[in-house]
Amino acid sequence: MPENRNYKQALTYSIFNNISQAAGELNLESYVIGGFVRDFLLDRGKAKDIDVVAVGSGIALAKKVSKLLPHKPKVQTFKNFGTAMLRADNLEVEFVGARKESYSEDSRNPVVENGSLQDDQNRRDFTINALAISLNPENYGDLIDPFNGVKDLEDKIIKTPLDPDITYSDDPLRMLRAIRFATQLNFTIEKESLDSIAKNKERIQIISRERIVDELNKILLSAKPSVGFALLHQTGLLHLIMPQLTDLEGIEEIEGQKHKDNFWHTLEVVDNIAQYTDDLWLRWAALLHDIGKAPTKKFHKKIGWTFHGHEFVGAKMVYKLFKQLRLPLNDKMKYVQKLVLMSSRPIVIADEKVTDSAVRRLVFDAGDDIDDLMTLCEADITTKNPNRFKKYHNNFKKVRKKIREVEEKDHIRNFQPPVSGEEIMETFNLQPSKEIGIIKDAIKEAILEGEIPNEYTAAKKYMLKKGISLGLVPEPKNG
Ligand code: ATP
Ligand code: MG
Repeated sequence: MPENRNYKQALTYSIFNNISQAAGELNLESYVIGGFVRDFLLDRGKAKDIDVVAVGSGIALAKKVSKLLPHKPKVQTFKNFGTAMLRADNLEVEFVGARKESYSEDSRNPVVENGSLQDDQNRRDFTINALAISLNPENYGDLIDPFNGVKDLEDKIIKTPLDPDITYSDDPLRMLRAIRFATQLNFTIEKESLDSIAKNKERIQIISRERIVDELNKILLSAKPSVGFALLHQTGLLHLIMPQLTDLEGIEEIEGQKHKDNFWHTLEVVDNIAQYTDDLWLRWAALLHDIGKAPTKKFHKKIGWTFHGHEFVGAKMVYKLFKQLRLPLNDKMKYVQKLVLMSSRPIVIADEKVTDSAVRRLVFDAGDDIDDLMTLCEADITTKNPNRFKKYHNNFKKVRKKIREVEEKDHIRNFQPPVSGEEIMETFNLQPSKEIGIIKDAIKEAILEGEIPNEYTAAKKYMLKKGISLGLVPEPKNG
């Protein structure tokens, strides 16, 4: 039996006193359990999400707690699950009655009976998530740790309280949670558990895609997402969830010519970008930036391996993948598509001489996403050759500098045509017609090419010239 340690110092939020008092009045036991306790012991600060287990009705406890609070917060109840939630002082407190669960084959929703604290701890996913701190007067603050979760916290181990085969098969979402926690906390999944995940991987099919995506997003948002993706790959889960990514794995060699392993390269890119952005969608773009390389790969005797058009194919795959994973098909998806589609553009510019017009075109096409695109390209540099590494970074520095210069001069970023279609129509006395489009386009091209500055007077002059060359006659007042 592990020693009883006391962690009163974890219970500084006043809500814990309210819970303790309410439980006393209802004559039931209550405990804070799970993530809050784990994160406190890990010194990750005091979480704002608090899970409370009542030996009895969690809903009744929540209602009682609300009555004791000055603002009587609304209690949201979920009768089917026997849980209730309330918010107070920026905290979100979930109440659940202690329970015992048994599972059937085809669902991760168990049959539930009332149980003891021990039963409730048994149904928790990992030993480090089964830690409870008592809110009862006789042992307020005592840690109840039946599975040596504290030791596993110290050893940085993820393991299940009960037989892993049963734990993962009962609720396969736990496989993803194990990998997610390993990634977030930088923990190791115990070998027996890891083997069991590999063995039970097919069970992931009963998990809704929204749940899967929640976990993928948490992995992507960690400090080092590659840890999670490598585990997903190693256990075989990634192939089931996102085969498009595992298709990138492998190095092929023909006639002594090799290409890089685009799967492991991608993971490096994601880790790189994680150092510069917390934006989930930019991280998704990094994860998917080379996705079109598997279907476009070809070997040519003279030039070796090519992936022609992979950006275009990749952008189309982004849509399919988002749809398949039930990710939103909105502006976020379009943003990821755009970054994938444009992912090689700055590289091409940096490789050649960085000309003003190429940079203007890049900024024109990327618009406000230009900085994100540059961040992606810099993260994409994974060469192990220090000279090349430096050279590529310097080239992108030049591109960035040029972007700033061109922007100051020409304001291409959110390009608005300096002469409107209406003005073109008035000038040449035109009805809506294709000539207007041709002239507008010619003005835009002249600006991007640097023939004229991005300003009204020059553009108007250019418009007249272009119109006349098309055989149009300006109205007298414009002539
Ligand atoms: P975080 O909130 O940082 O994601 P957490 O551990 O608080 O971590 P929650 O999803 O909030 O995770 O769940 C709270 C607690 O509920 C967990 O600590 C764990 O004890 C339990 N739990 C959650 N999901 C499961 C599950 N699928 N199987 C078993 N226990 C679970
Ligand atoms: Mg939580």
